[in-house]
Amino acid sequence: MRFPPFSSFVRTFVAFTNATAHLRPTAQRTLAPPLNTFGLRSMPTIPFLSSFFGTSTSASDKMSYPDQRSNDEWHAVLNKEQFRVLREKGTEAPFSHEFDKHHPNAGVYTCAGCDAPLYKANHKFKSGCGWPAYFDSIPGAVTRHTDSSFGMERTEIVCSKCGGHLGHVFKGEGYNTPTDERHCVNGISLKFNKDDPQTSGNGEAK
Ligand SMILES: [Zn+2]
Repeated sequence: MRFPPFSSFVRTFVAFTNATAHLRPTAQRTLAPPLNTFGLRSMPTIPFLSSFFGTSTSASDKMSYPDQRSNDEWHAVLNKEQFRVLREKGTEAPFSHEFDKHHPNAGVYTCAGCDAPLYKANHKFKSGCGWPAYFDSIPGAVTRHTDSSFGMERTEIVCSKCGGHLGHVFKGEGYNTPTDERHCVNGISLKFNKDDPQTSGNGEAK
């Protein structure tokens, strides 16, 4: 059996494409741009589809976000790798972040840039793809738009408050979750707060 060379090939492949194929047999399917399934590739904006795609909202690249910090200001609060991923749409190496295998019973994942609450602990599931995976977000916390880089058409997800890059969302992969969606998020774009301000009873969201 020569699995180690094969699996390292898969990891390299996945790291390059960020297609996040969790198993080799699905790689082909994952590479297909999700929106092509609906025959909508030529449509520039698809706001009405957002209602089918869970609770995040759809927007274009030109959207302005409430938190309008400059790059200099972001450099002051983010480390180099956080800046590369959040502000320059980078991708962390798969299987590299502790949140990949982080499965708390409660709590909330917030944006590492602006601290906005993005995902609850119970949105997280084990996808095996190498990045933290969530089947849904806190309503309105995550904004989607089309990413046509690397010759693929994917759906990028960003923080609705600061526009920080989180990752991509994939649909119809067959995961047994309520949405059959996978928010594939860079762990470095997130922080974890074990006290969920919305359920801890003090009523004061930070
Ligand atoms: Zn943010």
